[in-house]
Amino acid sequence: MADNGLALGIDLGGTKIYAVITDASGKILSEAKNATDNGAGPEKIASDILELGKTAASQIGVSLDDIQPVGVAIPAPVDPETGDCLHATNLGWKNFSLKNTFHKLFGREVYMNNDGNLGTLGEYVYGAAQGFKTVIGYYVGTGLGGGIIINGHLHCGNSGLAGEFGHAIIRKGGRRCGCGHRGCAEAYCSKIAFVKALKKEIFKKGQHTLLPPDKFNICSKNIKSKQLAKAYFAGDASVRRVVNDGAYMLGVAAASASAIVAPDCIILGGGVIEELGTEMYPAFKRSFDAHLFGLDPAKVGIRFAKLGDNAVAVGATVYARNKGKI
Ligand SMILES: [Zn+2]
Repeated sequence: MADNGLALGIDLGGTKIYAVITDASGKILSEAKNATDNGAGPEKIASDILELGKTAASQIGVSLDDIQPVGVAIPAPVDPETGDCLHATNLGWKNFSLKNTFHKLFGREVYMNNDGNLGTLGEYVYGAAQGFKTVIGYYVGTGLGGGIIINGHLHCGNSGLAGEFGHAIIRKGGRRCGCGHRGCAEAYCSKIAFVKALKKEIFKKGQHTLLPPDKFNICSKNIKSKQLAKAYFAGDASVRRVVNDGAYMLGVAAASASAIVAPDCIILGGGVIEELGTEMYPAFKRSFDAHLFGLDPAKVGIRFAKLGDNAVAVGATVYARNKGKI
């Protein structure tokens, strides 16, 4: 196989699968997406990924077989050695491995890692964290994802479980998290957390909301970032309180992680940050500065993610080009 410089990167999400093909300079030449077949098992999703890769390749007149590096971002911690995945909450999968399945389907090794890790890698190589050395990333979406780059290397840690910032405990005995523990950062700053807190404000305390009842009601488990932003900008006091409180707790989490990693850059990204990053920033920064140990806040660059929806898939291409050694 001649090296044409192309790489395929896949972002497997709870609602959609997104594929990009980049050239050697990281430029996206082709993109394709598909709805995630909810309720399907790993084997079916893996073959959907193969088909999507073929579609992306055909759009630029090449065959998938002509693209050597293939990387896939999984919404779960992935052991980079074995490909074993612990728990993909959004997909309802537990203790699975896609390594052999992908190898069979693609006829070559497919490099897999966690989506928060690969998003951070994408931002580090082509996005907002370019030029920094040690970077931590926070992605506020349905959950709270994260990733760590130390001196230019993606840090995956024992069993690939590093950078799970959403499950760093920031309050002992605090709010219950989907993982079963209490007081995780994700239980304070994620859409699932916001919806839970809003339900308490509105249905228990009788506060008003501008969120439309067809999008938000007592049964809601999640909400679109755009809906949340719309209510925030319209002056919804409950939404503002809940989101700003979440941003403040994210500052606590980031300051705490900084005492461990001492980053020179913190990336804030994900759907909620894309919509409300500027609004959340003051509460985040106030809390971050107040809880930071030793580091001069002026020496920590806080940046909004730049690659948006592309970060994770582009990060997957970088990871695959490096054969998982970066
Ligand atoms: Zn948790």
